[in-house]
Amino acid sequence: MPDVYVLIFAPGGAAARAALEPLGAGRALAEGLGGKLAGVVVGAGAEEVAAEARRRADAVIHVTGDHLRAYEADAFTAAAEHALKGRDAAAVLTLADAVGREVAPRLAARLGGSPLTEVSGAQVEDGRPVFTRPVFGGKAVAKLVGRRAPVVVTVKAGAFEAPAESGAEAPLETIQAPAVEPAVEVLAREAAPAAGVPLDAAPVVVSGGRGVGGPEPFQKELKELAEALGGAVGASLAAVDAGWVPQSYQVGQTGTAVAPTVYIAVGISGASQHLAGISGAKHVVAINKDKDAPIFRVAEVGLVGEWKPIVDALIRAVKAGK
Ligand SMILES: Cc1cc2nc3c(=O)[nH]c(=O)nc-3n(C[C@H](O)[C@H](O)[C@H](O)COP(=O)(O)OP(=O)(O)OC[C@H]3O[C@@H](n4cnc5c(N)ncnc54)[C@H](O)[C@@H]3O)c2cc1C
Repeated sequence: MPDVYVLIFAPGGAAARAALEPLGAGRALAEGLGGKLAGVVVGAGAEEVAAEARRRADAVIHVTGDHLRAYEADAFTAAAEHALKGRDAAAVLTLADAVGREVAPRLAARLGGSPLTEVSGAQVEDGRPVFTRPVFGGKAVAKLVGRRAPVVVTVKAGAFEAPAESGAEAPLETIQAPAVEPAVEVLAREAAPAAGVPLDAAPVVVSGGRGVGGPEPFQKELKELAEALGGAVGASLAAVDAGWVPQSYQVGQTGTAVAPTVYIAVGISGASQHLAGISGAKHVVAINKDKDAPIFRVAEVGLVGEWKPIVDALIRAVKAGK
């Protein structure tokens, strides 16, 4: 029986918050195909991550090597290829984050398989893994199969839940990846100043749109609320286009896809292109003075009114521990 593999990248020994979620999709596929679900952890010093995977998969391969400490696309692709070559994989899944998006298509080419990106649904039909992905800003859903096995798939953050721990520890195979000479030489790595919580990993995202009226609220009220909640600040394209915040803040179809537990949209109308980036959010809170704004159709909690007094009240409430 062909098996399903989930790649979990752990540069620096740590994986992204959502890196185990594709195991949820993998479990459904493995059951449908009658095969095994295996985790492939790539990264030196990632024993903790491998242990987490062993409690959720049927087998775990940990690919390690000194050259796998910091992330480098060629090295991580070659390590994943080394682990998977010669195995009967029907599907290889990984999180659609910066690393997954770089490695998955490269890996598909090397394995002679089919690359498939940004899926949010997975099931087995007629013995084949079938994937779904929102298209046209979430207005339609495409249904896709890979023509060549294995299909190498990036999975949207928030689309699946990591399986619960099984209570048992799956067998672990540790292998050394051969060192490769990367095509790109990293000259320096410098931490961005005051990076805060990265948008795509934040448990709470507070985003501002055209309705907040200017750049100041991003530095003041929205930042204060996000910080009080341990989250990050995001923005709509309109706010980015107005020059109020850099493009790295943009949430949506052409920005970052976020998957926080709580997404707070402040002065954002809820255009389909914006909503395409928040489909992974567990709960959406919308603050907008127009009670008919489309954002309220996806919001679990809707607050109609001027944004500033509402956000000020939220900041006070959070700080008061309510
Ligand atoms: C190909 C393409 C890709 C795109 N990709 C993206 C993307 O990735 N991300 C994205 O965000 N957009 C994207 N867009 C743009 C998108 O269509 C919208 O234009 C954009 O999201 C609108 O931003 P907004 O909601 O901030 O502004 P608006 O639509 O102007 O909405 C502002 C909202 O603020 C409310 N408001 C105004 N004043 C106040 C106040 N004082 N208090 C409370 N509420 C107030 C208004 O009622 C209104 O609902 C894309 C568009 C295209 C064509």
